[in-house]
Amino acid sequence: MQIVVDLTRCQGYAQCVFLAPEVFQLHGEEALLYHPAVPAEQLERARQAAAACPVQAILLGEGVSAGGR
Ligand code: SF4
Repeated sequence: MQIVVDLTRCQGYAQCVFLAPEVFQLHGEEALLYHPAVPAEQLERARQAAAACPVQAILLGEGVSAGGR
């Protein structure tokens, strides 16, 4: 499963970091790092993180891409 975070939307609320710390990490105030390929055992957490993101910046799916960025 692939994950893409639209970093132009992400406001660094860190809900995703809280819910899926193995997938998302915050570096500094607003720099979000994440693992684009989510391992199966992290999938449920990643889904919860996507649902919890206040700005819906997290896209989950097969073959999602950052749209050429
Ligand atoms: S929950 Fe959404 S806005 Fe907050 S850090 Fe994660 S991706 Fe960014």
